[in-house]
Amino acid sequence: MKKVYLDNAATTPLRKEVIDEMMLVLQSDYGNPSSTHSYGRSAKTALETSRKTIAKCLACSSQEIVFTANATEATNWILRNAVCKLGVKRIITSKVEHHATLYTVQNLQKEFEIEVSYVNVLASGEIDLTQLVNLLSINTKTIVTLMHVNNETGSVLDCDKVGRICEQHKALFHCDTVQSIGKTEFNLNEIQVDFIVASAHKFHGPKGIGFAYIKKGIVMQPMLYGGEQEKGLRAGTEAVHQIVGMAKAIELAYKNLNEERIYITNLKSYCITKLQSNFPEIKINGTDTFYNILNVLLPFSEEKTAMILFNLDIKGIAVSRGSACQSGSIKPSHVLAEMLNADDLKKPSLRISFSHYNTKEDIDALIDGLKGL
Ligand code: PLP
Repeated sequence: MKKVYLDNAATTPLRKEVIDEMMLVLQSDYGNPSSTHSYGRSAKTALETSRKTIAKCLACSSQEIVFTANATEATNWILRNAVCKLGVKRIITSKVEHHATLYTVQNLQKEFEIEVSYVNVLASGEIDLTQLVNLLSINTKTIVTLMHVNNETGSVLDCDKVGRICEQHKALFHCDTVQSIGKTEFNLNEIQVDFIVASAHKFHGPKGIGFAYIKKGIVMQPMLYGGEQEKGLRAGTEAVHQIVGMAKAIELAYKNLNEERIYITNLKSYCITKLQSNFPEIKINGTDTFYNILNVLLPFSEEKTAMILFNLDIKGIAVSRGSACQSGSIKPSHVLAEMLNADDLKKPSLRISFSHYNTKEDIDALIDGLKGL
């Protein structure tokens, strides 16, 4: 059975070049970067070269990149630091954020009794920026945490604009860029953002490694205490092979960005056309969504909702209903709950997410699979 992977917002396959680079490190560069002998120095060089590569791709300084296990860890650290170290008394976020943000915010609220405001989400999936400005007009030390590209719908935040709004109101801005790093250009020299986070496995790199961008001048308290790794901010021996793999992945993502973006955009258009011609009542959830994510409301009965992913999976087709942790559960998506009416929310919505490894044949297989339901 030919298998079809259309769940690239959950995770992506590694590029061969990334595996090759990681294998080299695993086989030969096994020194501990903290050791002063040649093995250690070589590993340290690999680490710092990787940091420079990432910084170059994002137009920031390598000192602003801190390696973390993943984006969840980075977001937890940054938001906790904002409250505990930077004097933040209020967090502004939205109800469509990833749980890495939402649950961190909820826990900080319980622990420190800070104020939390949720900015409205429009039916298009976009964030109501007029309301954001209104919320910020109250003068309290604030961090705004909003995601760049929504992982379920692909709705896009205008980071430039939000950055300017935050700057005008002297609020900190943390942006969850997990779905957009390696898929769109970033110039961190220009965007007024204080923190961004990334996970390598979303851009064809390895799992278990990510990074935080912390704007120069912001004081962080250590996430973990121990050795001097990551300037004492995150103690523990670094996963050099993962870091080198992540750097290779981001480098290749930006090298091939234009070509792959055009390819994926065309694939998404093909998928929409095919879906609309086979299921004329289909609706797209979200407006002007990011080029690699398509969330559709299928004109199927409610009874089919629970079994749809299972039935596609039997046919070898991997798609998702929402974020990966919710897939397979019948709990409605917290993101779609903010955008759809009660009736539509009960119907099956599918998240189809593409990469440059997908083909039109994959889309045809998906359509056939859906027709057979
Ligand atoms: N933020 C967004 C938008 C995501 O899509 C994800 C993963 O799905 C995360 C955060 C968390 O990433 P990780 O599980 O790699 O920490």
